[in-house]
Amino acid sequence: MSSITEKRKFKKGDFLISEGEKGDSAYIIERGSVEILVAREGQFIQIGTRGEGSIIGEMAMIDDQPRTASVRAIEDCEVLEVSREDFSRRIDATDPILRMVMKVILTRYRDMLSRSKLMVKNPPPSFIKAEEIEKSDSVTDVAVNTLKVYNELKEALKNSELELFYQPIIDLTSGKIAGFEALARWFHPQKGMISPGIFIPVAEESGLIVEISRWALNEACIAINKINKNINPNSCVTNKPLFISVNFSVFDFSDKDFFSQVKNIITKNNTKAENIHLEITESLLVEQPELAKDGLEKCHDLGIKVSIDDFGTGYSSLSYLHFFPITTLKIDQSFIRSMLAQENSYQLVKSIIFLAKNLNMRLIAEGIEDKKEAQALRNMGCEKCQGFWFAKPQSLNEIFEFIENWQPPKL
Ligand code: C2E
Ligand code: CA
Ligand code: CA
Repeated sequence: MSSITEKRKFKKGDFLISEGEKGDSAYIIERGSVEILVAREGQFIQIGTRGEGSIIGEMAMIDDQPRTASVRAIEDCEVLEVSREDFSRRIDATDPILRMVMKVILTRYRDMLSRSKLMVKNPPPSFIKAEEIEKSDSVTDVAVNTLKVYNELKEALKNSELELFYQPIIDLTSGKIAGFEALARWFHPQKGMISPGIFIPVAEESGLIVEISRWALNEACIAINKINKNINPNSCVTNKPLFISVNFSVFDFSDKDFFSQVKNIITKNNTKAENIHLEITESLLVEQPELAKDGLEKCHDLGIKVSIDDFGTGYSSLSYLHFFPITTLKIDQSFIRSMLAQENSYQLVKSIIFLAKNLNMRLIAEGIEDKKEAQALRNMGCEKCQGFWFAKPQSLNEIFEFIENWQPPKL
């Protein structure tokens, strides 16, 4: 079976797809255009054309039926191939009712298509408009874009285009460096830096996140070992060894090897489990509580600390806080942003700090962009924080320099 990442080229006149054949792949047209043909009395009749950004051959991805039409290049084409294997995994992961509806629609479409073939040679106007309708459909747009990013991301992992950046986390009482959050960056050879806000959701949807998380944890272990080993005794860091916080996603916990992989990576790198924090959002705990509980408890028993990311944004009930081994709450930056302008937000931050202290949990406030925010948080008793006012996420080389030069700011 051909690989999903394959880019293929076709010359003008080449057939990409032949009617009657079994279909093992779909194609996204990146350059060029094609015509859709059906054979009638020994002749081909064109029933439509497709251009850049269109997907073709997708029907065979959903059911096992032979191709209903042929597709021929009108001009030289470059296409991305999507294998049935990758497609099937996505479809299998969807809701069974959606799957059923999709198949029913497809069966009816095939039926309509075969009946239309019995009609006159001139195709009905609805076929000619098909591409326009398809292109104006935003759902198709999103899906095609997701598949493109997915293909490129898979390549990016192979080609080491991903890099971890590190944002310092500062102890608010002493102003010293306490640790770092590891944040992924993608340096695309043509497009430049791509934000994790774009590629992490695609990685989550496609299952690639499991590979990315393993990569990130491994990189983070290597980085924190180097940092702790090379700290100059005069640097302004807290007494404890510095920690590194790594983001994980709900999909990591569905992987049956999750815990053994985490353990292997930490052991292999000889990193102390206490120096690793695992960041997850509330939604994980709420959507898959049993799965998450098991994975988190094993991590906790090993010594890894667990932080709740974006606390306060995802879920209204607090009962889950007792159910899981949570060490730290990270106050979401949206509260910090509005805290000094809106009394309600200020009181909310104060309440989160109060809650964490009563539950014997640690606190980190995120997204501090000015001194006043830092002062307010310190006065409210928040222990640690991170934000652009202190430092932006940086490469490992820059972090060494940062540690060397860091002076606690006067608050
Ligand atoms: P997050 O985990 O909430 O990470 C904090 C985000 O806030 C980072 O964005 C960081 O650069 C940004 N930030 C930090 N301080 C400030 C500030 O003062 N002001 C503002 N406006 N922003 C600040 P980034 O690096 O773009 O990451 C976005 C999200 O992508 C992360 O949000 C996280 O959910 C996800 N992500 C990043 N790396 C990874 C990863 O390796 N694995 C997973 N699963 N998710 C990741
Ligand atoms: Ca985070
Ligand atoms: Ca966050």
